[in-house]
Amino acid sequence: AQDRYASIREKPAETMCGTVIRLDMNAGLMADLPSLEGSGAEGVGLFRTELQFLIRNSVPRRSELAALYRRVLDAAKGKRVVFRTLDIGSDKVLPYMKPQDEPNPALGWRAIRVGLDKPGVMRMQLQALIRAANGGPLSIMFPFVATYSEYQAARAQMDKAMAGEEKLGHLLPSTLEIGAMLETPSLAFAPNQFFDDVQFLSIGGNDLKQFFFAADRENERVRRRYDFLDSGFLTFLERIVDRSAASNTSLSFCGEDAGRPVNALCLAAIGLRVLSMRPSSIGPVKHMLRKHNLSEVKAVIDQARDRGDQSVRQAVTDYLLTK
Ligand code: PEP
Ligand code: MG
Repeated sequence: AQDRYASIREKPAETMCGTVIRLDMNAGLMADLPSLEGSGAEGVGLFRTELQFLIRNSVPRRSELAALYRRVLDAAKGKRVVFRTLDIGSDKVLPYMKPQDEPNPALGWRAIRVGLDKPGVMRMQLQALIRAANGGPLSIMFPFVATYSEYQAARAQMDKAMAGEEKLGHLLPSTLEIGAMLETPSLAFAPNQFFDDVQFLSIGGNDLKQFFFAADRENERVRRRYDFLDSGFLTFLERIVDRSAASNTSLSFCGEDAGRPVNALCLAAIGLRVLSMRPSSIGPVKHMLRKHNLSEVKAVIDQARDRGDQSVRQAVTDYLLTK
């Protein structure tokens, strides 16, 4: 399937109206890295570090992690890699972590909440990342941040790790970008200071959609009940786009929907300029973006919303059929 798109692999994801969308890929294992060249992705917009923890039966050592992250950076050959710190709990249970008996794991003690309450593993991970960068650029994002204060606390851990590594004589990253995933609705309503302070944001649409509609992404009975192109959800996403733009904060979208061509086109139409997806989606999404004009798609979305359509999907699909 990848070959169908070979002719556009080296071309930009430039729409008919001349807007260039950056397409990154999601990864989590060393085995994913060769796709960086094959898919035409510009970088790794989301590196899920928990996969390395999930495939073992004991906590990895800091030196092992540093070596692994170094291999990831080497394989990326200078392309940007955004490492997401450990996102465990909920659906991702570590074999060596005491299982938590929680009535609602998706709303429970997970991701950055664990990292802030039991900072040992996160500190080790941050140190390993600094060592892996070895004086080069480093991008890190924290998962599941629900409030500005959680971001500040996570950021403080990073500052502490930097100071500690410097004292030990390790090289510090040449540039350091610290971002947050926006995957809880509360963060979309954080104070302006948060949007000004955070260096970049990435919308985790899988979780954000689950919480917006209160529909468990793991539950087959409800997970497809609400459309990603629901008018209200798009309006919500647009608000995040506007708030990020007002603060000049770079924003990407890294949930599965970024890799679905029609959804990706609508994301671009409401203002997203960076999409991160599984490598096999880069070709189909690029193909879709290159054929369309964002202002036309935006007008179709706006008309559908004004008419009161529950979802804009029908209107957008009809429009695409006329093209
Ligand atoms: C998301 O929630 O959209 C996301 C990218 O993270 P994950 O799927 O790993 O929860
Ligand atoms: Mg998530």
